[in-house]
Amino acid sequence: MLEWMERPHRRLNALTGEWVLVSPQRTQRPWQGKTEQRASSMPAAYDPSCYLCPGNERAGGVRNPHYTSTFVFNNDFPALISSAEEGSLSERGLLVAAPERGVCRVMCFTPRHDLGIPSMDPDALKQVVEAWSAESISLRKMPFIKYVQIFENRGELMGASNPHPHCQIWATEHTPNEVSKEDYRQSEHSRNHSVCLLCEYANLESQGERVVCENESFLALVPFWAIWPFETMVLPKRHCSRLEDTAELEREHLGGILRDVTRRYDALFETPFPYTMGFHEQPKDSDASAAEWHFHGHFYPPLLRSATIRKFMVGFELLAGPQRDITPEMAAAQLRRIRR
Ligand SMILES: [Zn+2]
Ligand SMILES: [Zn+2]
Ligand SMILES: [Zn+2]
Repeated sequence: MLEWMERPHRRLNALTGEWVLVSPQRTQRPWQGKTEQRASSMPAAYDPSCYLCPGNERAGGVRNPHYTSTFVFNNDFPALISSAEEGSLSERGLLVAAPERGVCRVMCFTPRHDLGIPSMDPDALKQVVEAWSAESISLRKMPFIKYVQIFENRGELMGASNPHPHCQIWATEHTPNEVSKEDYRQSEHSRNHSVCLLCEYANLESQGERVVCENESFLALVPFWAIWPFETMVLPKRHCSRLEDTAELEREHLGGILRDVTRRYDALFETPFPYTMGFHEQPKDSDASAAEWHFHGHFYPPLLRSATIRKFMVGFELLAGPQRDITPEMAAAQLRRIRR
């Protein structure tokens, strides 16, 4: 593969079945595009105007408790509501629609306004992982819920409206697009090769050129098919289909690898690295069995070559398909070299 990997080529995303165009020869191209403002200075431990800080008032006059670890509440402006009536698919020729019920929650990771995954201590991070698992279990118990998406938007660049460390949890009545693709591909792969796709992939990548860091239970790597310049995937080394399948020590290790990855990100361009991060767990109505669905996390960060230069998904990418210049191997080497 080595020789043609220096030339334009495309790579298949084994998890989604989609292709990404890689153009390594373009990495020397001069940049005259837009730069973003650097994120503003460090926040304080408590912000009286923050609607997520303990004891403060949220929209509609609700007051947060004086919480001391994680804190979960129903989103005051939810994208989905659970009380809507059940309905069926409506089809009028090409006009197809279906009602969708769901639940949207917000989880504060810590009462501290100034911390985040890179700066929280291991115990506190383990509590966050435990809380994710508990939310996932409790939401999946609702009869109409098929899928639970946990995700964190970090940084103004990703549209995070509040710097207080928090994530969102959206539970939906149907399995969403990205998860459906991964479900299909994982079940297909197991059927054709009699092995879990991501068990095989983790095995193939272990200690290879795309690995960023690892611990006893988890591997973090820039996937062979990554779209974003410094995109990473976090894979449990032992097969688990959902967060709830992880053992106590593995939850501690998950917190640890998330901290390791985000610290490398922050050090890369010496800036709080913006990203969307989230987990993919086996949906309730999946085609892939629990033995075929491999739980994992994705980090999608937009930065390209400095704290102020980001990648835009425009032009060819918007109209045709994703494209990248820096190879996943180059990105992994940069992240791997960082001393935290
Ligand atoms: Zn706050
Ligand atoms: Zn597996
Ligand atoms: Zn995934």
